[in-house]
Amino acid sequence: MAFTNRPPGTNWSHDPEYKRNRKTRRAQAQDANEPCVRCGGAIDYAAKEGPAMWHCGHITDRARGGGHDLANMQSECGQCSVTSGARLGAERRWAGNRKTIQRPATASRW
Ligand SMILES: [Zn+2]
Repeated sequence: MAFTNRPPGTNWSHDPEYKRNRKTRRAQAQDANEPCVRCGGAIDYAAKEGPAMWHCGHITDRARGGGHDLANMQSECGQCSVTSGARLGAERRWAGNRKTIQRPATASRW
């Protein structure tokens, strides 16, 4: 998974408005136990990583001019958020962790 560094000052995941609204949005989603808007799957609001953790998705992509306002945020599961191309620190950590699981069976046991 390629990851491109943004130029300094453009890393919106550290934007104060984004952080504030993300926190608010998460509290709302958790109260309502919202499922993932993309796959309809249940979200594990206690999870800090993995395919079921809560992700704050943008309804209109940042690349298409979407902003950080609450109305543009939606609940996504980690799986959908990662496959939709979002790049947040948590996803990068998760992508790193994935290397340690699943090793294909080899012929060494023969
Ligand atoms: Zn999903």
